[in-house]
Amino acid sequence: GSLPSRDDVRAIIETAYARFREERSGTVADYIPVLAEADPAAFGICVANTQGDAFALGDADGTFSIQSVSKPFVFALVCDALGAEEAARRLGVDATGLPFNSIMAVELRADRTTNPMVNSGAIATTSLVGGANAEERWQRVRDGLSRFAGRTLTMDERVYRSEADHNQRNAGLAHLLRGYGRVYCDPDEAIDVYTRQCSLLVTARDLAVMGATLAGGGVNPATGEQVIAPDTCRRVLAVMATAGLYERSGSWLFDVGLPGKSGVSGGIVTVSPGKGAVATWSPPLDAAGNSVRGQLVTRFLSEALGLNLFVSA
Ligand code: GLU
Repeated sequence: GSLPSRDDVRAIIETAYARFREERSGTVADYIPVLAEADPAAFGICVANTQGDAFALGDADGTFSIQSVSKPFVFALVCDALGAEEAARRLGVDATGLPFNSIMAVELRADRTTNPMVNSGAIATTSLVGGANAEERWQRVRDGLSRFAGRTLTMDERVYRSEADHNQRNAGLAHLLRGYGRVYCDPDEAIDVYTRQCSLLVTARDLAVMGATLAGGGVNPATGEQVIAPDTCRRVLAVMATAGLYERSGSWLFDVGLPGKSGVSGGIVTVSPGKGAVATWSPPLDAAGNSVRGQLVTRFLSEALGLNLFVSA
């Protein structure tokens, strides 16, 4: 299958943009002061297909820190390096059903693994990125995510500093996991690289290309580069489906029927295997930390573009 024609995709995105433009519910993240400065009115949509077309509207080129939307892409790099089965054994792939920063999630299972899409599992994932020290791991993360985006991504220093001053809870998670043998390098180094990774600046257009790379067997549709192995993609999409929207992942799958990943800056990337990806940016969040408008738009687009995986042909 493929997306509808270019004209139809364009018209459908315009309808979605107009329909949800006035939506004002939700609250901008305020756990660090820099994020609280985000413009609640910012609103961008981009749909990218696996052939290299991108359809963008609104603030699709506005930048924001990637936050948790980095998680599937770092997991992809780790799966590629270690093999997906080894990565799954060391990180876990089951739904936690709990909030993104849950400490209880770590205690749920006897083996103390969680899922790479929640903070505990994501910090563990980052600790598995190869490199002799934090700087090498960080370069590898930044380079890998840049290859997904098809351009060199840079870090927002203010977001990084602010996160680093307020990440006691993540540091607690990392040390707890280290105690269980589930963080695989120095926990403070893992946290530093994870915090940098969350502070990378992206646009909705970047997220759409990154998602379309996962949709297209690991080939970046904009650059033609094989970023990760084809077999890695289905593993990454599976963990996104289990925990990509935190404790709302079941409701998301029920409504949208596609793997997605949200972040607290208001970005959401949603992947339609073989076809492409939908990316949205709108900072106001619901109680679980997922963009309110992003969820509404994606649900609409999944339906209108015929993307839901559970619809019989
Ligand atoms: N930097 C944030 C954290 O780890 C990201 C959380 C998110 O986007 O959900 O707390």
